Amino acid sequence: MKKRKTKTDEIRWPKKYRCAVILGFDFDAESDEMRTAPDKLVPITKGKYGATVGLDRIFNVLDDFSIPATFFVPGWVAENYGEKVKEIQSKGFEIAGHAYLHEKVSELSVEDEKRVLEKCISRIRQVTGADPKGYRAPWFDLRSNSLNLLAEFGFEYDSSLMNQDLPYFIKSSPAGKLLVELPVDWCLDDWPAFEMDRKSTKMVHETWQSEFDALYSAGSLFNLTMHPECIGRPARIEMLRGFIQYMQSKHNVWFASAGEVSKWWRSTHSEDRPVEFSFSGSRGKEP
Ligand SMILES: [Zn+2]
Repeated sequence: MKKRKTKTDEIRWPKKYRCAVILGFDFDAESDEMRTAPDKLVPITKGKYGATVGLDRIFNVLDDFSIPATFFVPGWVAENYGEKVKEIQSKGFEIAGHAYLHEKVSELSVEDEKRVLEKCISRIRQVTGADPKGYRAPWFDLRSNSLNLLAEFGFEYDSSLMNQDLPYFIKSSPAGKLLVELPVDWCLDDWPAFEMDRKSTKMVHETWQSEFDALYSAGSLFNLTMHPECIGRPARIEMLRGFIQYMQSKHNVWFASAGEVSKWWRSTHSEDRPVEFSFSGSRGKEP
């Protein structure tokens, strides 16, 4: 009997790659604290740890494995850690946007959200010479109108939503421009696991590995969200090192930046039906 063709058999990734892996680092430093509690020294120093010790450890790991990564940078961080952002750029990693002062979009008026995006883009441009093409909302906090604004401001992709395991298109209004969405999930985010649930490196490694195994066998996208002040702790960075080694031991894993995955998806899946969000609410219509 002829085997029925499943979605997994379709060519989704370049060459013979079976699944795609994005290592994303939200380079927040102390931007959130500068907005909410500029005199709270403990969280501020934790943010600074990320921008110095943590970031350098991440560079070492990425250099050792020669793999790409994407850094999501708030405009304030570009302004205040310009040399670090330049270093990210000089190492060939992608720089994407992440608001200005790590704002929660649900707390902003539409006008303020616009101003935040403008500042995010301009501060990154001042340091890197280029507008960011990708965006991740702090706290994964996004509303339907944010998608319109991202399209309006020239972004190619977003990476904050959770509809699917694979990338998909979002139709923004009113221009109808298609944004590529690179979906995330809380279980593939280091922050809740380590900083909220206080899980051990062993437990987090186990969660990430089982998610990776399942997504690998489905031929899907493994999109990991990390923060330098969190994953940059000594034991956690060693866990990440071991985990990358594990992923590399599998055949045909495509390690790519978020921008590369978005570009590939746009050029090969343009006929996919986009998800349309209701612009008066948050319900998404599945394709
Ligand atoms: Zn963040």
